[in-house]
Amino acid sequence: MDALQIMNSLDLMIENPKCELEHKTPFELLVAVILSAQCTDKRVNLVTKELFKNFNKPEDFANMPQGLLEEKIHSCGFYHNKAKSIISASKDIVNRFDGKVPNDFDQLLTLAGVGRKTANVVMAVAFGGDNFAVDTHVLRVSNRLGIVKTDDPNKCEQKLCMFFPKNKWSKLHYQMVLFGRYICKAIKPDCEKCLFNKECPHSRV
Ligand code: SF4
Repeated sequence: MDALQIMNSLDLMIENPKCELEHKTPFELLVAVILSAQCTDKRVNLVTKELFKNFNKPEDFANMPQGLLEEKIHSCGFYHNKAKSIISASKDIVNRFDGKVPNDFDQLLTLAGVGRKTANVVMAVAFGGDNFAVDTHVLRVSNRLGIVKTDDPNKCEQKLCMFFPKNKWSKLHYQMVLFGRYICKAIKPDCEKCLFNKECPHSRV
């Protein structure tokens, strides 16, 4: 399948893609994306709804005892590392970026606990950049559709950026996330509902 065919079919299946992590500021988004690793957006939204009532600025987290944050984010899993990353990133933002999340991919990558996926999501969603974040759904869907043959998210990102037009990257990221989450699921994909089911080598129809 070529890029146009994939984009047209995704437009029909996933009409209004958007970030499902609730947030009001780039910083809240950053925290939510860190929490979302190995966790559902639904769970993250439940946790951040409470958390952001009292803590929603880098200054709030920079001086927070790690144990307190761990308690608040416990149900997201990997709470020890996530708390550590949120506190370190907050300190970096306060000390090096004047309390503001940097609107720059390379600078975002210098924050503790921020990898390419997180930086790409923040750039695309908070700052309207052309970025292609690769998470587990995007990686799986890209392989099943035959766009890539790799389990390396960085190689997948490179290929996707060459395969699709730049001005579609950020929209396609969310279309592929939602397509992977609700149709092309890891276990038992809903191939009956999928417009790729004639061409896809993994089709169960
Ligand atoms: S046919 Fe099935 S496996 Fe293939 S892309 Fe569609 S949902 Fe995924």
